Amino acid sequence: MPRRVDKPKCPICRKAVKKSDPEFPFCSERCRLLDLGRWLNGGYRIAVPLPDSAEAAPDADDVEPGSGERK
Ligand SMILES: [Zn+2]
Repeated sequence: MPRRVDKPKCPICRKAVKKSDPEFPFCSERCRLLDLGRWLNGGYRIAVPLPDSAEAAPDADDVEPGSGERK
């Protein structure tokens, strides 16, 4: 499998982006805001909950390492 590290992709929609893009590493302001919203919601533990990202996603159903926090 060839390496594709030179082809940055939008972490939100996986669309190819250029480093010269004003919204890099996102493809658009919309995706940038989506990413920001995830951070604000504290839901960034799952990288990209898109169905077509299953190849790179670990088991999302795994028990989280810090799940012993409840009192
Ligand atoms: Zn995007």
